[in-house]
Amino acid sequence: MNYVLHFCKNKKCNNAWIDEDLTNAQSRPPSWKYCQECCKKYGYVNPAKPPKRNKTDKQLENLKKGRDKLAKKRADKSD
Ligand SMILES: [Zn+2]
Repeated sequence: MNYVLHFCKNKKCNNAWIDEDLTNAQSRPPSWKYCQECCKKYGYVNPAKPPKRNKTDKQLENLKKGRDKLAKKRADKSD
């Protein structure tokens, strides 16, 4: 397991700490987690895994629409 410097997700918090590198961070320190202090102070709960950044919600939606369209096309053809 690699370790990397994390920044707190809370923009008003300047905490940074060394944590497991789950995002293969290379140059930019990840900031998808809150620091322990913020978790205690504000009750934030960190996700177990980093959020996927590959596709936005909009892109995923379009992808699904495209798939549905294709499925419908195929269904029409077989009729
Ligand atoms: Zn913090």
